Amino acid sequence: MTAIVLAIDDCPVVLSTVAARLRAENVQLVTATEWETGLALAIELRPDLVLLDIELPSFSGLDLCRRLKEDPRTRDIPVIFLTAATEIATKLHGFDLGAVDYVTKPFHPDELRARVRAALRAKRAQDVLVERARVDALTGLHNRSHLDERLAAETRQAHIAGTPLCFVLLDLDHFKRINDLYGHPFGDRVLASVGELLARSIRPGDLAFRYGGEELALLLPGVTLEQGTTIAERVRDQLRTMTFVSRGEPVNVTASFGVVEASEMHLGAEASSEAFVTAADEALYAAKSAGRDRVGVWRRSGITISTPIEATVVRRAS
Ligand code: GH3
Ligand code: MG
Ligand code: MG
Repeated sequence: MTAIVLAIDDCPVVLSTVAARLRAENVQLVTATEWETGLALAIELRPDLVLLDIELPSFSGLDLCRRLKEDPRTRDIPVIFLTAATEIATKLHGFDLGAVDYVTKPFHPDELRARVRAALRAKRAQDVLVERARVDALTGLHNRSHLDERLAAETRQAHIAGTPLCFVLLDLDHFKRINDLYGHPFGDRVLASVGELLARSIRPGDLAFRYGGEELALLLPGVTLEQGTTIAERVRDQLRTMTFVSRGEPVNVTASFGVVEASEMHLGAEASSEAFVTAADEALYAAKSAGRDRVGVWRRSGITISTPIEATVVRRAS
């Protein structure tokens, strides 16, 4: 992947020199001559590196660096100061603000290239670690901590755009018994297969998670409660028809589901993931109580169990 480098400098000559120096590198260079534009581009594009001048008109690059490091959306982007200021105090200040490097103008073209390459190498290694920290090792799905982050972001987005946002929680049925009868490694294989099934069942933009233990989840932006219920029904049906084999013996596994949708819950822009999970858990619990291998659908008017046979109201909100 081509790395994006954002260069912010009030001097167009410096920017075109940087562009010429980096032409041979595998980077896409984006430039800004004003700090406001630079900040907006950093937030919007999430570049892999920012080259930042210190003496910007009406603003200090040091302050801009501070802003970038304070904002969770931009704080992991490495910053290299590119400046004519050579005083040690300014340099130290820059590093203290979180810059990874400092190049003084006029810079040697090879040195600039080498420093950009080094910063991008470190950023790529950091991205790999960040990605790994979001993934559950057994299922390859996103993990719980990433769910909290994504739910908050998607709720905000759905609220602003006025689009639906569906959340599906599923819990494998009698999984303790599966482990007891066929062993924990077999249970692990089942979990990994259910993870694959979920990953196959979603479209780009949807996300599948391991919520914890034998509980998995789907976050479906733009999907209504009805569509989400259909997706859950389809996954439920595919799972119950999958046959696992333990020591030559066929084993079937089922799961119970809870489906919720943000606007049905009247969640605002700042809804916590807790609200989603609590409602989905209620619907899932109703599906368990109704006999498992079912989909519970949360509505303000009450939870219904969607079965391919007929919908049954099992709870009415008071
Ligand atoms: P229910 O239908 O009510 O959900 O019954 P259950 O047995 O699935 O529920 P319970 O919560 O009592 O048990 C969950 C089981 O899931 C117990 C635990 O050992 C198993 N489990 C959780 N995480 C893993 C895992 O990573 N691997 C394996 N093999 N089993 C796991
Ligand atoms: Mg459970
Ligand atoms: Mg279970």
